[in-house]
Amino acid sequence: MSQPPTTAARGPNETAASQLERKLQRLGLREPSDYVVHLPIRYEDETRIDSIGTAMPGRTVQVEGEVLHSEVQLRPRRQLVAAISDGTGRLYLRWLHFYPNQRRQVEAGKQIRVRGEVRQGFNGPEIVHPRVSKAGEALPDALTPVYPSTDGVSQLVLRKRIQQALSQADLSESIPAELSGRLGLPPFAEAIRTLHAPPVGLSAQALLEREHPAWQRIKFDELLAQQLSLALARRRRRAQRAQPLAAKNAELLSRLRASLPFSLTSAQERVIEEISADLSRTFPMHRLLQGDVGSGKTVVAAFAAAQAAASGYQVAIMAPTEILAEQHFSKLSGWLVPLGMKIVWLTGSLTPKQRRVALESIAAGDADLVIGTQALIQEKVQFPRLGLVILDEQHRFGVAQRLELNRKGDRQQEEGEPCVPHQLNMSATPIPRTLAMTFFADLDVSMIDELPPGRSPVITKLVSEARREEVLALVHREVQEGRQAYWVCPLVEESEALQLQTAVDTQQWLSDAFPDMEVGLLHGRMTSAEKQQVMDGFRVGRVQLLVATTVIEVGVDVPNACLMIIEHAERFGLAQLHQLRGRVGRGSGQSVCVLLYQGPLSMVARERLRAMYETNDGFEIARRDLEQRGPGEFLGMRQSGQELLRYADLQSDSAIVEEARDAAAWLLSHHPDYVRRHLQRWMRGREDLLRS
Ligand code: ADP
Ligand code: MG
Repeated sequence: MSQPPTTAARGPNETAASQLERKLQRLGLREPSDYVVHLPIRYEDETRIDSIGTAMPGRTVQVEGEVLHSEVQLRPRRQLVAAISDGTGRLYLRWLHFYPNQRRQVEAGKQIRVRGEVRQGFNGPEIVHPRVSKAGEALPDALTPVYPSTDGVSQLVLRKRIQQALSQADLSESIPAELSGRLGLPPFAEAIRTLHAPPVGLSAQALLEREHPAWQRIKFDELLAQQLSLALARRRRRAQRAQPLAAKNAELLSRLRASLPFSLTSAQERVIEEISADLSRTFPMHRLLQGDVGSGKTVVAAFAAAQAAASGYQVAIMAPTEILAEQHFSKLSGWLVPLGMKIVWLTGSLTPKQRRVALESIAAGDADLVIGTQALIQEKVQFPRLGLVILDEQHRFGVAQRLELNRKGDRQQEEGEPCVPHQLNMSATPIPRTLAMTFFADLDVSMIDELPPGRSPVITKLVSEARREEVLALVHREVQEGRQAYWVCPLVEESEALQLQTAVDTQQWLSDAFPDMEVGLLHGRMTSAEKQQVMDGFRVGRVQLLVATTVIEVGVDVPNACLMIIEHAERFGLAQLHQLRGRVGRGSGQSVCVLLYQGPLSMVARERLRAMYETNDGFEIARRDLEQRGPGEFLGMRQSGQELLRYADLQSDSAIVEEARDAAAWLLSHHPDYVRRHLQRWMRGREDLLRS
């Protein structure tokens, strides 16, 4: 059978040249304009010759000297060794793999130039696999750039191609001179040339730390491109159509308000207002509702859901765990069923019959509100009138899952109803400002910056494992006084089975320690009926002490639980500890969170525990977490803003982020021609990444 030509080219007969092209493409290098913005990660100073006497271990040197001696040794392994001298000292060279011509290069008596990092060898300072050339050749008059590369693409190839590209590519300005002048940034061509071939005398340090004005220009350009793409994504969204959900039946909302056992905080009132206004627009809402754990986001979701239902549209609420979905179901049912709303519950653990009934009710349009887990995004679920999608703890969902739920709206579009559902994302993981402005720029943010009244901040105690007895006494006292406690079992990363075992053992051990107490157990492997039974027991106070794995991390809400013990707290991440701690401090009593740790602590673990001890403020925690983990991991998703950024750093360059955002708005309204040119240069082939 004949193979299509593309497949053949990848076979064993692939030429070296096409193999190289493929590798270059993987580096994002296709056209001259790509090469131009492929910038060095560091520089080597090859502009001078060091004397061998200064070749200390740890230094990278370039020296010249005469080969005193060279030989191929066979023991302890086959290797080529040589020694050179320039009169100030002796330097040994060693190759573990070598070609015949390398051997000829270092024949005794030859004058050679070598370069590499010095280490302490058996006989004295040595360089393993040095770079060798003839002595006396002209020295470059610029620092030598070292480019990001991949296996099989040499620096030489990159340098040559980039030099070529610099003479071919269009280096003209992609921002008006007025803007670069105002910000004190050098022209693009000048910045690019400086970075590819910095003149001698330029501070290698400023280049390395990317503080030189040339780097500032590049970072600004990159961030500007990101801001422009996000602004365009926002425009595209505004061009879409959504069903305006201006509550036709406003009475429903006032009844909901009147039925609540508490009065809303002014922060809650404000965000309900913001969401309500979005819902009544004809383009889809894309809003992130942020509020620290316990700030009361669920009731805000209830108002949004009621508004959609009052307009005759369906609402889907998706939560990352079954426990949380179940809790929303019971809480929202309590608020919304009395108003006449029909609520359906959909998770993976329904029986086939329950499932069929639920699906029918959704498809027939009877269900006003559907609450569930990932099961909601399954193919078979058909919403005839989906108006609003709410994602709780949105950062726990992958990008793909979020898109999938939104696509439920696209499907309606195919069926002739030209509408996309509104989307509300809720998260207790506060996103620091810079991150919100970059990654989430097409997301409007509402913030609940106030906790319901009467809550006193949780007191956090760090207790060493050695003082476990004191902790038991604390639990006992708390329960004696009629309150409840959580006991969170350690994370066992390497094995879920082991983690389960630990939880089971802990419950056994605590039951033995407190024979007069009801000790419950909650873990991820229980069926949902079992979980629900345990949670119900805890909620009504029959269970006094709840041993749990991290399944309780998100959302669980039992106000009478005022004490939390976290075992092996040093194994948890910062965001996770904060989430866990958020399970207490929900009632009016003074709450305590005990972080039991086992030393010795790593530096990072020590910092995390310190952060937990020092602050209850979710924003401060998030800031420190971001510092420790970097945005990609912080956001728990692959497509983080950082991945799109090659040169700028969201944290250290936050001032540039602000400038870039202002500049993007200004360019879009005054210089659309520049916008296109700028995106062409910086975002070629990457626009897709920004679309979601
Ligand atoms: P989170 O923002 O972490 O999701 P929840 O919505 O679970 O918080 O709310 C935490 C607790 O506070 C719940 O028991 C909820 O009923 C209660 N709550 C919400 N708003 C108020 C309020 N304005 N006054 C008093 N309690 C409130
Ligand atoms: Mg919640």
